[in-house]
Amino acid sequence: MTRILLIEDEPAIREMIRFALVREGYEVDEAGDVAEARSAIADAHPDLAIVDWMLPDMPGVEFIRELRREEIYRELPVIMLTARAEEYDKVKGLDSGADDYMTKPVALRELFSRVKALLRRSRGYGEDESLKLGRLVMDTASHSVSVEGKAVTIGNTEFKLLHFFMTHPDRVYSRSKLLDFVWGQSVFVEERTVDVHILRLRKALKPFGADGMVQTVRGAGYRFSANVG
Ligand code: CA
Repeated sequence: MTRILLIEDEPAIREMIRFALVREGYEVDEAGDVAEARSAIADAHPDLAIVDWMLPDMPGVEFIRELRREEIYRELPVIMLTARAEEYDKVKGLDSGADDYMTKPVALRELFSRVKALLRRSRGYGEDESLKLGRLVMDTASHSVSVEGKAVTIGNTEFKLLHFFMTHPDRVYSRSKLLDFVWGQSVFVEERTVDVHILRLRKALKPFGADGMVQTVRGAGYRFSANVG
């Protein structure tokens, strides 16, 4: 399920966009201002955000810039909504970090195609994607993992964890970073939980001799790599 965070203060516009996105199969979280958006984003863990330029408590661009300062949201696809095309020039000048923009009134079909294009473009956030790392293949559309054509039996959380690893290989992540990325920032889980799921992931990969891809980096965390030493 792809989650979209919609930040727009005008209720009629927000409702129209929300309704249309839900009909297209997206899960939508709404916010009327930046304060609401901050709590929604921590709860919802969105795959994409649609941000209005004019918001009551803070300009949308400021919020986008705030997001870009956090590693977890640095690559979050963002579409900016503006009332007039000229505003976007200003936005561009400010280098807000939005990936795309649309002027109001919002043409829904155009919005859908921009949303789809952005999701496709953003690595790790796509709806239907096939990922390959070493001998491991993940297909998000069918929610399946395989090694050389043989299916790997894997739980839901391990799937999410593996998806994160496959889109962020060869880097060390601490337990708390993995919690943020895979479980979401507002979810309260102990860091030990990460170890449990790492163990399960290794167990799932073991019959294929791929458990060595999940590497423990002492005192630092975990790394996922196709280069098994
Ligand atoms: Ca507005």
